[in-house]
Amino acid sequence: MTATSDATPVSDEDRTALTDTVTRFARTEIAPHVDAWDAAGEFPRSLYRRAADLGLLGLGYPEQYGGTPASYLLRLPLWRALSRHGASGGVLASLLSHNIGLPPVLAHGSDAVRAEVIPPVLAGEQIAALAITEPGGGSDVAQLKTTARREGDEYIVNGEKVFITSGMRADWITVAVRTGEAGSKGSGGISMLLIPGHSAGLSRSKLDKMGWLCSDTAHLRFDNVRVPARYLLGEEGAGFRIIMANFNGERFGLAASALGFAEACYDEALAWARQRKTFGAALVEHQVIRHKLVDMQMRIQSTAAWCESVAAQADAGRTGPEWVASVCLLKNHATQTMQFCADQAVQILGGMGFMRGTVSERIYREVKVMMIGGGAEEIMKDLAARQLGI
Ligand SMILES: Cc1cc2nc3c(=O)[nH]c(=O)nc-3n(C[C@H](O)[C@H](O)[C@H](O)COP(=O)(O)OP(=O)(O)OC[C@H]3O[C@@H](n4cnc5c(N)ncnc54)[C@H](O)[C@@H]3O)c2cc1C
Repeated sequence: MTATSDATPVSDEDRTALTDTVTRFARTEIAPHVDAWDAAGEFPRSLYRRAADLGLLGLGYPEQYGGTPASYLLRLPLWRALSRHGASGGVLASLLSHNIGLPPVLAHGSDAVRAEVIPPVLAGEQIAALAITEPGGGSDVAQLKTTARREGDEYIVNGEKVFITSGMRADWITVAVRTGEAGSKGSGGISMLLIPGHSAGLSRSKLDKMGWLCSDTAHLRFDNVRVPARYLLGEEGAGFRIIMANFNGERFGLAASALGFAEACYDEALAWARQRKTFGAALVEHQVIRHKLVDMQMRIQSTAAWCESVAAQADAGRTGPEWVASVCLLKNHATQTMQFCADQAVQILGGMGFMRGTVSERIYREVKVMMIGGGAEEIMKDLAARQLGI
């Protein structure tokens, strides 16, 4: 999700129409290819253009940049249906990486920078990424070490970023840097700088992973990279606040996706349980299996209701500390729902659930990143506790 929530009331018809569009796209243009894309370690760049043509990349962005303003309630079905029917965390993460890379540009870039950067990304011609995590750590953002030293009209950037989604292909990378006085520590010296992907001195290497195999996750190295000062996003030293605000949208998107992945596991497990026979009856006729399926439903339905509630609150402008806490706890609940459903689905599929080619096998491997990325479970609990005054 982006930071660009539009409070325009959304009708059930709009949400159904969007869900139908995304479902068709995911079923026909993603799901049949995911195994091949995972084996290749990437999906075709043309998929960005296709998603843009359907209006999916621009959802939640102003019209002047080629987007379509949209409330949280309208954007929820995009994440949910893309995950449920595409069933690939790798596609979802890279195809929608602009939703974590662009919001700081939209909120804090100059008019000229916004006009230069946002339209080609929403049109699917260029790719945007966000780079905060470093080899020294991701949870403790205030300790990041990458430096940007001002020299005339430029910043000179040195440092490293790891685990960066879309990092291999990104044309624009929104990077958290330390601009404070030499050796400054803590959150006060952090700034956000937009770095063009073609910059001299930027090198990238691809990382091997447990899941998200078709997503281009990269290790980035900045070696005296010269960046025009006009790409500074917001004031020097305002970076920490920008990062924290950006996280809320990312975490909501992760929760909505985890919900969709849990549903994908349920769908596959139910279909299998109906057609697989053991001891003279379909699996679904055994009470133990039915209980597994309703236990999945119980978690799916609670997660869905919570997603709707958090989205409705955001659309009503109620985004204070209690909402932030709710987003953190929702992310944990949704990813635990995904973990439970992936585990139960693989169990119901039996040996087939351990085989490459089933949806549940892939999603089982993609659970952990959802519980770590965008703020790990332990960090979510600490942040929620602080917001609630515990
Ligand atoms: C596939 C993938 C894609 C990613 N994409 C991006 C991206 O696009 N951009 C980006 O910037 N980052 C990205 N990340 C990084 C991700 O956000 C970090 O991995 C995450 O924030 C955790 O940081 P870390 O891995 O450094 O773990 P650490 O911060 O080292 O923490 C390790 C473990 O210790 C726990 N922990 C830490 N501190 C405490 C504490 N005080 N009390 C209790 N437990 C604690 C954490 O919860 C975690 O479980 C990605 C990661 C993955 C795996």
